[in-house]
Amino acid sequence: MSQLQMFGLNMWLLIGILTLLLFATVGMLVLYTSTRAWLTTRAQNRSFAEFQAQRIGPDGQRKPPQGSGICRRCGDAVANGYHTSQGCICVACFDTTSQT
Ligand SMILES: [Zn+2]
Repeated sequence: MSQLQMFGLNMWLLIGILTLLLFATVGMLVLYTSTRAWLTTRAQNRSFAEFQAQRIGPDGQRKPPQGSGICRRCGDAVANGYHTSQGCICVACFDTTSQT
């Protein structure tokens, strides 16, 4: 086999290896992007479900808006109390009143 034929075969081998590397790189990028998109969608759905669970009680009724205030039943200053039409009420007092 002459040196020119050897050179031609090596060029084809090099082209083949580079093509395989290109396909492997594109495949890895697609895999990485789709995995990240799937994980992001899953995290968004979980976060939204958690947010909805905080807003809607077990009876299906929407809970009153939350904010800081002083509980009208126990008198504690709370960062996340419920603001009802009767005034602010802390989460612990709200849970005991909604259960009874
Ligand atoms: Zn309270």
